[in-house]
Amino acid sequence: MRRPVKAFYLIQPYFRENLSRVVTGLFCLILVDILQLFIPRVLKRAVDDLTAFRAGSRDLMGYALIIVALALAIGIFRYGWRLRLIGLSRRVEEGLRNRLFSHIQSLDAAYFDRTPAGDLMAHATNDIQNVRMAAGMGLVALTDAVVLGAAAIGFMAYIHVRLTFFVLLPMPLIAVSTRFFSKRMHRLYQNAQQVFSEMTETVRERFAGIRIVKAYTWEKHDARDMERISRRYVRTNMALARIIQSFFPLMLFFANLSLVCVLFFGGRQTIRFAITPGDFVAFISYLGLLTWPMMALGWVTNLIQRGGASLERIESILKTSPQVVPVAPGNALRAAGHDLSFRGVAFSYPMPKASEKGHPALKNVHLAVPWGTVLGIVGPPGAGKSTLLRLIPRLYDVSSGAVTLGNTDIRRLDLEWLRGRIAFMPQEAFLFADTIERNITLGRPHVSEKKLREALKMAALDKTLRELPDGLKTLVGEKGVTLSGGQKQRVALARALLLDAPLLILDDPISQVDTATGHQIIRSLASFARKKTLIIVSHRLSVFAIADRIIVMDQGRIVDSGTHARLVESNPYYRHTHQLQVLEEAFHAR
Ligand code: ATP
Repeated sequence: MRRPVKAFYLIQPYFRENLSRVVTGLFCLILVDILQLFIPRVLKRAVDDLTAFRAGSRDLMGYALIIVALALAIGIFRYGWRLRLIGLSRRVEEGLRNRLFSHIQSLDAAYFDRTPAGDLMAHATNDIQNVRMAAGMGLVALTDAVVLGAAAIGFMAYIHVRLTFFVLLPMPLIAVSTRFFSKRMHRLYQNAQQVFSEMTETVRERFAGIRIVKAYTWEKHDARDMERISRRYVRTNMALARIIQSFFPLMLFFANLSLVCVLFFGGRQTIRFAITPGDFVAFISYLGLLTWPMMALGWVTNLIQRGGASLERIESILKTSPQVVPVAPGNALRAAGHDLSFRGVAFSYPMPKASEKGHPALKNVHLAVPWGTVLGIVGPPGAGKSTLLRLIPRLYDVSSGAVTLGNTDIRRLDLEWLRGRIAFMPQEAFLFADTIERNITLGRPHVSEKKLREALKMAALDKTLRELPDGLKTLVGEKGVTLSGGQKQRVALARALLLDAPLLILDDPISQVDTATGHQIIRSLASFARKKTLIIVSHRLSVFAIADRIIVMDQGRIVDSGTHARLVESNPYYRHTHQLQVLEEAFHAR
């Protein structure tokens, strides 16, 4: 219980921001607690009057009206605290969610390589919901347990101290069992969370790869996997339910033990005239009022533990700092010029455990790309081509050496400025579930119609769009499933071209389009020569007709470089690939 509570400092700022809500909410809540305590007092008076044969219909009506007035006031103030305190918990939830989302967005690509999306979804939904419950209902239960509990005991003691003592005897049992149960609940709850996260990730992955699953008739196997994990989820939740469901009845049992004490000891005191029948009835009413604070005591530990455990998980994400750290705004530079160079660059992808050393994806890379150059990069799969490109917009930072722009280490440049200089088209064309237009303009809603048309034309997308029923407004499904691979690739290319940045970096831009469309795109790209730096990775060597220079990579190193003509002549890998592609094109041309 001690550790999770520590993480509550994270929600303090939201409480401070909503101080008026906290104060008015608690005021209404405490008022409700106090007003409730007066109903047994009215009952006492009524019963005493009745037993003494003093009460007439008018008196009874009077008592009834007082109870109605109290109930009305309780209702109004209860509405007040619910609105204020539940509103508070929603604001805590909102603040925490926004903070978590912005923080996760600031983390680098390496973090997303090792964190399953299901885990992040569980944090964003379950964990934040637990914190909301702890902040809202936790606060209510705690206040009720303390204020209503203490006040009810006070009112009971006012009637008869020794009787109150007997009635409260079962209390330590409640405290001890709450402690025992809440520890087990916490552990089982964590298990349930873990299995939930695994299940979410399994579902997400299986649906993301549904086409592969179908193509390989893997449905039965997948369904069995899913059944297994669902069964585990039910098992862990049933274990949790068993403990929760035995906890609350046990609390009620202890509360009923107190009732037995009132009946026996209170009854004897009434017979002996130590207390009046009205006191006896009031005592039972107070006991009724005390049942909720006793249960709240149990509930609040549960809520706070869940909330605390969730906050701990959120805290561990918030404490994760990105490995790609933007330079402090005061020290951030802007490069003079756009000459790019790699100076003795080595890079290994970060491993899940910091202690493990990754296999180097780039080794001792020296490369100068003066502004206005068209550079081609070729090499077998896994040679490190994409990795080299990813280092330029700092999706990852070099392990040693430096990447420079205009002679300045890019790690010293303003990160947003740097990324604003680069139009990067990654190998995998990712589309959001939105219109084609929004997928292309991505974050820049005010681009001119002319620029958009130009980009579409260059990406050879204009004709395709005319064939689509809604043109640019066509909605693409999740990851663009309603488009062909080649169409998606061209949407991604148009997105990069629209940026009009001085550095255009394309990772395999024509791998999925037919030869004729590929040539059309290459011709468009040729118009950028001397106007931009163009870096193109491609397995299709025809792209390199426009390149000033081509580098050949293998196993993380640059093993050769030169013009297309020189490489065809002297590089065996390049010549072999070229011959195969010439044959292939000749075959298709027939
Ligand atoms: P391809 O032509 O298939 O796209 P590539 O030349 O672009 O290949 P890279 O994607 O740069 O090759 O990969 C270089 C090496 O880095 C490979 O050994 C690959 O397994 C590894 N690698 C790539 N991405 C990651 C990653 N996110 N985490 C860990 N290792 C990676």
